[in-house]
Amino acid sequence: MPTKTPPSIIAIDGPAASGKSTLGLKLANELGYLFFDTGVMYRAVTWIALDHHIDIMNEKAVTALAENSPIDVVPASKSDGRGCDVLVAGRDITWETRLPEVDANVSVVSAYAGVRAALSQQQRRIGQRGEVVMVGRDIGTVVLPEADLKVYLDATAEERAKRRFDELTARGAKVDYDDILAKVSERDRIDSTRDIAPLKAADDAVVVDSNILNVDEVFERVLNLCK
Ligand code: C5P
Repeated sequence: MPTKTPPSIIAIDGPAASGKSTLGLKLANELGYLFFDTGVMYRAVTWIALDHHIDIMNEKAVTALAENSPIDVVPASKSDGRGCDVLVAGRDITWETRLPEVDANVSVVSAYAGVRAALSQQQRRIGQRGEVVMVGRDIGTVVLPEADLKVYLDATAEERAKRRFDELTARGAKVDYDDILAKVSERDRIDSTRDIAPLKAADDAVVVDSNILNVDEVFERVLNLCK
């Protein structure tokens, strides 16, 4: 009996800290696909703006950075917990994109129309090649609406903040749960209420509730959807 081929373009969307990247990377490794975390591109532009002391509220200047900065996202070169390498003009800024000041400013940057136009065009070009697991907020709705499988990974803000708290505490960071919850909720608010490509599940997405499933169960559920 012929075996069914897995979906070629897989879109995974969902709110901050919902486990999209962990799921996406695992799935891409399992299928031998490219893993592409689109959030890192918005994070890279935000980091470049902060590094250049550009006012984040200056839409024109931030948009020019998104249009002109040579940002590359390539498979991870090190096993230090990264999902991919983020390079700007050849410099590895993977961990800089995870800084708290980037977290605090990225949703303002990603709401700018020109920034989204510049980045989603590159994302679409890469995604259309197929054999890709692309992770973000608007992949199933805007970047790759033709995706063969769309997953929307959801969990309450409290559960997501708890996971982020546990993750950071395990790495030795001194963090406050209420502070993390406030920041995650604020990022969700901006991401889901912006005019362009707001965070939402595509009509044809499979919604996976990760409140009631652990990482392995989420993975099994989505892998079954691929079969
Ligand atoms: O997924 P991650 O938390 O790294 O994304 C960082 C930010 O980038 C999000 O909060 C959102 O503002 C923006 N983003 C987006 N569209 C995407 C991916 C990320 O607006 N496709």
